[in-house]
Amino acid sequence: MTQILSDRSLTHLDRLRGLLLGGAVGDALGAPVEFMRRKEILAEFGPLGIARFAPAYGRLGAITDDTQMTLFTLEGLIRAEVRWCCKGICNPAAVVDRAYLRWYATQGGKPPQDFEIDGWLSTLPALNSRRAPGNTCLGALAAKGWKVGDPAANDSKGAGGIMRVAPIGLAMDKSPFRLACEVAGLTHGHVTGQVSAGWFAAWIHAVGQRPSLRGTALIAWRPIRGQAPELDAALAQAFQLANDGPARQVPPQLGEGWIAEEAAAIALWCVLTAPDPFEALRLAVNIDGDSDTTGTLVGQVMGAALGPSWIPPGLLEQLELADVIETLAADAAWIFWGEPNADGEPWNGGDWSDVNASSKRFWDRYPGW
Ligand SMILES: [Mg+2]
Repeated sequence: MTQILSDRSLTHLDRLRGLLLGGAVGDALGAPVEFMRRKEILAEFGPLGIARFAPAYGRLGAITDDTQMTLFTLEGLIRAEVRWCCKGICNPAAVVDRAYLRWYATQGGKPPQDFEIDGWLSTLPALNSRRAPGNTCLGALAAKGWKVGDPAANDSKGAGGIMRVAPIGLAMDKSPFRLACEVAGLTHGHVTGQVSAGWFAAWIHAVGQRPSLRGTALIAWRPIRGQAPELDAALAQAFQLANDGPARQVPPQLGEGWIAEEAAAIALWCVLTAPDPFEALRLAVNIDGDSDTTGTLVGQVMGAALGPSWIPPGLLEQLELADVIETLAADAAWIFWGEPNADGEPWNGGDWSDVNASSKRFWDRYPGW
């Protein structure tokens, strides 16, 4: 079986752009068929299923809540880093929780009293649009009150936790597993939902360090075995079925991807068996279940491994929010890896004093709270 390998020549920024754009393309490919059975998809799009953008939410290339929340995760991580640099104290999960409350406001939700909507991301009209947001996320954020940063008081392991944590794998040098578990736990109270998200972020992290996608998935899994037996069973089955080699469709035994461990297993199987990255996406979205989420996860892994170069240019041109993604990725690379920001300004060299104009402008875009 041909193995896709992580490209060792990529910069951090290449990987982050690949992760965000690849995930968004997978999301947009799956968006029109999220609520269709595979049989219905093939009947409408032909024997290979959907393999190019079809209209959803009134346009081609429309992204959904998966991409929206992934972008807010990254916005939260940037603001947590700003806070850390300026204040020397930070609880990253709480800062990401505030980012999710800003997302919640874009969905028409009412954040807690006195919660200030600031920064630039949530003010974009393009993000203020409902794209089948998950009820678990909406419900958990509605119940936050003053408990921002606390785990959700529900028992959900829906895929809404795992679908949004991938940036943690690239942005965090240390403990991506733990932070992704915490971040998924902000809205999803079930341990399997949290550990699945933690494993996925740890896999993304390992993909940035080593070539083998199979090996990195195992490296991420080994130290956490036993923490969530449902995830262990799902990943074991995906590895086992992948040993049988490529197939025309995702094995139905892996489930439909509505819950976290199934989404994880489907993404893993697609990544391990597909001969090329776009074929992995096509397999991921042509399923009975949560096509936009499985497409998102596969696109994120492929992008972290290969950057954005494998994405068909025609799809990138049609992709909604591609410019927002590029801006956010460049700003993240400025604060995490010292590269020029989206305005082309060099890194501030760690100087956050009031007289440093670029630091001030960055704070205005990403206030550290
Ligand atoms: Mg979605």
